[in-house]
Amino acid sequence: MKIDIKRKGQHNINQRFTVHLDERLPFYVDKPFDIEFTYHVDVHPDYYILHVEEKGNVPLVCQRCAEEWLYEYHHHSEIAVCGQEQTAEKYQNSLDVIVCPDLIVDIKDVLVDNLHLFLPKKHEKIDQCNQDQLKLIQND
Ligand SMILES: [Zn+2]
Repeated sequence: MKIDIKRKGQHNINQRFTVHLDERLPFYVDKPFDIEFTYHVDVHPDYYILHVEEKGNVPLVCQRCAEEWLYEYHHHSEIAVCGQEQTAEKYQNSLDVIVCPDLIVDIKDVLVDNLHLFLPKKHEKIDQCNQDQLKLIQND
């Protein structure tokens, strides 16, 4: 799904969308899944800020106990979309920047990149892990 940043900056909507993610997923994601998101665009003098609110239950395989579990994923990102490399360089230390000459962003790329950064690889606490499977793994 492509977003025309320039146009959205003029007509902000806060509609909810669902997108099916099935490619480039982190290896510990068990299977393709749907994610819900809303977005809006703020206009700044030489860049745009794309706000994305992401929500979904992500099927993961815990890298400690190997159990499949559903992670309640909720993430908000703010990405500065710049049309030019020079602008991006100016802001890259203070903002999360992407360069996009045509100012059209594929939201799927943004969502998948965020998954790689923010999904946990294992259950948050060791006592949430499947204890029987942990013992089996440790005895191997
Ligand atoms: Zn676990």
